[in-house]
Amino acid sequence: MPNAGSMGAAKGTVMKPLITKDTPVTDEVLNTIAHLPTRSLSKIVDDGFFKKLADRDFMRIAFLLAKKGYEEGGSPIGGVIISNETRQIVGKGHNTLVQENHPYNHGETSAVRDAGRQDFSQTTMFTSLSPCDICAALIYMRQFKRLVVGDVTNSSGNEPILRQKGVQVDILEDPEGVSFYAKYRKEKPNQDLEDWQGLAAVRKAAAGRS
Ligand SMILES: [Zn+2]
Repeated sequence: MPNAGSMGAAKGTVMKPLITKDTPVTDEVLNTIAHLPTRSLSKIVDDGFFKKLADRDFMRIAFLLAKKGYEEGGSPIGGVIISNETRQIVGKGHNTLVQENHPYNHGETSAVRDAGRQDFSQTTMFTSLSPCDICAALIYMRQFKRLVVGDVTNSSGNEPILRQKGVQVDILEDPEGVSFYAKYRKEKPNQDLEDWQGLAAVRKAAAGRS
């Protein structure tokens, strides 16, 4: 049995983060990061790991968040916000139309809410799908420096206005993410339509078919 002195030392030992700069970048590690609460990340992930992540890795996290949302029965769209200086994640989230009975909480709004009160002009938003009108307005009204869009195949249109408003917009498609969203849209067309244009559009479409 250790004496009181050594127990005290053990208590005072600083816990090392589980994910470090030497941890390989795999889908499993990125998926763990996607599932952890943002505020816990600094205790579990070393700064060095985030620094070595490329844009496509952050987009991958956005897609893994989208996938998490889909597994919950929701619409698969995820968002991740990083600090441009440290590359650390300051906010992330996914669409919660179904999960929270929330008519407009998209991947981007969810990530902004998770980030809280920040100076977004020093950040980059990664979104797994091209932003809708509401999210596009939020992105330029909060003065995001940069937006990286992971899918302009299933939807697009607000990129020019965002550029006009001074946001640097880059397209970085994740092929698996693009095919995943296409598959979801085919599977749940009404949920997809509701997410974009509300139940009014779903009712109108149904009336048009009858
Ligand atoms: Zn939106």
